[in-house]
Amino acid sequence: MNVRENLETITRNINEACERSSRQSTNVNVIAVTKYVSIERTKEALDAGVSNFGESRDEGLLEKVNAIGTDPSWHFIGTLQSRKVKEIIDYVDYIHSLDRRSLAKEIQKRANREISCFVQVNVSGEESKHGLSPNETIPFIEALKDFPMIKVVGLMAMAPNTEDSEEIRNVFKTLRTLSETVQDLSIAHAPCTELSMGMSNDYEIAVEEGATFVRIGSSLVGNEK
Ligand SMILES: *Cc1c(COP(=O)(O)O)cnc(C)c1O
Repeated sequence: MNVRENLETITRNINEACERSSRQSTNVNVIAVTKYVSIERTKEALDAGVSNFGESRDEGLLEKVNAIGTDPSWHFIGTLQSRKVKEIIDYVDYIHSLDRRSLAKEIQKRANREISCFVQVNVSGEESKHGLSPNETIPFIEALKDFPMIKVVGLMAMAPNTEDSEEIRNVFKTLRTLSETVQDLSIAHAPCTELSMGMSNDYEIAVEEGATFVRIGSSLVGNEK
């Protein structure tokens, strides 16, 4: 496992996906998802030039932040229990899993600065996935005006568990269309210009469909667990 080589490969693939879809590769940010790897491996990614890191559990986030510091941006990407918000809120730059009002309320209560949040959408409708249905998403975002610490920078989705790349692509397309609908509403607290979508197996499709943040774990830093 050579993180630097992996990053080069991923960067090349992203650049090619951008060319295919007439996008600027500078608009695509790679989040190294370190939930399955050691601090050592995380440091390798930092040394290779990664400046965005993602963790899906509070313990993992705090352990890595303690070791690495807050120079890179930290993204909380997993399901977030309301009672854990106070543990992580001072260290995260982005929360990717805002999917309910009770969580928004807790973020509002604990934050001492504006927090950039992605609203998580369950586009595929799989029961195992968290997130709002596409129909619930816009009313939910509008109601977040009650929580001035929350800025909705974009939408986040996970691809369905399938090998069918067209099905995956359709999910990403749906998320992009929904984000454009939100943008058209010009909601002050919800610029919604970012799209968090794409993981190790599907980030190239996600980039072709407009991802601005891809969350890559195993194919970048590996999986030590
Ligand atoms: C684990 C995880 C990832 C990264 O998964 P890989 O397939 O290892 O790239 C991305 N997003 C979320 C929400 C995750 O939990």
